[in-house]
Amino acid sequence: MTEERSLILVKPDGVLNGHIGEVITRIENRRYQIKALKVVNASKEQLAEHYNQLVDKPFYPSIEEFMQSGPIVAMIVSGKNIVETFRKMAGATNPSDALIGTIRGDFAREWDKGSIQNVVHSSDSIESAEREIKIWFPEEK
Ligand code: UDP
Ligand code: MG
Repeated sequence: MTEERSLILVKPDGVLNGHIGEVITRIENRRYQIKALKVVNASKEQLAEHYNQLVDKPFYPSIEEFMQSGPIVAMIVSGKNIVETFRKMAGATNPSDALIGTIRGDFAREWDKGSIQNVVHSSDSIESAEREIKIWFPEEK
């Protein structure tokens, strides 16, 4: 059986505010495995694919602007239940709802902006993980 994978991004606010190490530490503390990792500047095309369910929303331009405001760290992370568990580790989408102890609850700084700046992205299902991995790691099989 192939191991479950998730596509995790440290978003520009997480990189800018110095939380790459903390996100990686939390992944490693759970004994998940980082299978691939890179720093990228997201293209409009990558973002439109990645956020294909949001691309037609009126607030999509603010998401695009935020996600292009600085470099991103992209990771393929594997392990048992990684998708569901990392979603719990990340916390609620809106940082004002995210519990203390979650990545977003602990590290998101501002949420009264055009787009929600919430430190990390993680895939919401095994299927979306495999879809998103192709976007950020086209060289991976
Ligand atoms: N987002 C936003 N405003 C919204 C909804 C979403 O800025 O009203 C952004 C936010 O950065 C969020 C991302 O789009 O993390 C993807 O939204 P989704 O609902 O998939 O939340 P997530 O899976 O990241 O918790
Ligand atoms: Mg999502």
